[in-house]
Amino acid sequence: MPKTIERRSELQYLPLGVGYLASVLIKAGHEVEVIDGRVNGYSDEEIISRLGKSNPEVVCSTARTFDLSENIRLLSAVKGAYPGVKTLLGGSHISALPEWTLKKHDSIDYGIYGEGEETMAEFASALPAGDLANVKGVVFRRGSEVVKTPDRGFIKDLDGLPFPARHLFELEKYHAKAVEVKRKPMASIITSRGCPNQCVFCCKSTFGSLYRKRTAENVLAEIEELVETKYRYREIHIVDDTFTLDMERAEEIFDGIIGRGWDVNIAFPNGIRADRVSRRLFDKMRKAGVYCVFFGVESGDDKVLEKIQKGENIAQIREAVRLAKEQGFYVGLFFVMGLPGSSIESEEKSLNLALELDVDQLSLGVITPYPGSRLYDLLRKQGMASEDWDAYRHDFLAKKLLYDCGMTGEEITTEWNSMIRRFYLRPSYPFKLIKRHGLFGAKKMYVMGRSLIARKLGIT
Ligand code: SF4
Repeated sequence: MPKTIERRSELQYLPLGVGYLASVLIKAGHEVEVIDGRVNGYSDEEIISRLGKSNPEVVCSTARTFDLSENIRLLSAVKGAYPGVKTLLGGSHISALPEWTLKKHDSIDYGIYGEGEETMAEFASALPAGDLANVKGVVFRRGSEVVKTPDRGFIKDLDGLPFPARHLFELEKYHAKAVEVKRKPMASIITSRGCPNQCVFCCKSTFGSLYRKRTAENVLAEIEELVETKYRYREIHIVDDTFTLDMERAEEIFDGIIGRGWDVNIAFPNGIRADRVSRRLFDKMRKAGVYCVFFGVESGDDKVLEKIQKGENIAQIREAVRLAKEQGFYVGLFFVMGLPGSSIESEEKSLNLALELDVDQLSLGVITPYPGSRLYDLLRKQGMASEDWDAYRHDFLAKKLLYDCGMTGEEITTEWNSMIRRFYLRPSYPFKLIKRHGLFGAKKMYVMGRSLIARKLGIT
């Protein structure tokens, strides 16, 4: 994975997808090495030089839409330095546009689309004989033609996957900068894949809409490995798209953690849905060590929620936040600006909701129609989807809007700055945060203040 130009982030999670792929390859008897330029800051030249020592047969990388160009640049450099080495690309971008990506970039020899573990194991066995036509879920070249084999569908039994091969990563690098966690070391885990909800902006190219879940026993076995045995992690971040969709399973997991008496803190930085919580579940979460919960709210306006097919309403969000605050959780809300049906008035409703609910953190993104989302498909049908993939970067304030939401980029930027100022620069805000969350609140203040100043200085 190359060094990328992502927005500066304090939290760098271990790429679990790569960890899973590595573990299935190891299980199938292959040798694997991981070089993460993202967390190490390695230049392409440094990665090339490291590859020279390992002499690999295949170099794989994983790209999202906004870091596709860095991945292509690295794979081209690999082909230039080692013409005999094969290159493979996976990730959400090629999963959404498999043939397109291979046709456009001859530095990629093979692509894997969709959920990669089973495909990767079969690909590695079939490669020596060059017989890829029977491996589902790949794209490759045959002469001048690009061949896409049939879709493999989703992995049904997630318990059948080995745990991510964490031992291949330089683990200390992933939490070195993480000042805003409650305790270190911190690890992330994923316990379910897929989401049946249909939010119009959501990229579903890898995990899709079919919800699959690991059993509580399987999840507890991984947490035990992280907390009690090998690694001695003191904090776990659960990064599922929708962890509490099966509330019974969620309770079982927390009952298991409480019963085992593990000394661990837990956070949900990706957001859970407000319509899939209860007082009983939150009570168990707190007893199990949960201290931080984000909700993916998207908009403070019911009309916008309806338009984007969020499937929940402001009343449910109010109630969920009330219940979370009752437990003393650090509560953050994610909003997306510029959604279909939105306006400056609806953005104001989002800010007012965050202020009214007196949450601890307001996270404001801007609509990005990633390939793999229904919004992208719609724009593509209308011939309006942008293929300037660099413009899909998270650093939205510097780019033009990729979707005509009725507001201009300048209007959204002005509103973003104004909302952030009115939320974070309230005189009462720092005192509340520190009073409610002590040292963790102070660390959050420090991180958020630093990020606001960096943005102001244009060095994000
Ligand atoms: S945004 Fe969240 S709730 Fe909506 S479809 Fe995506 S994962 Fe599901």
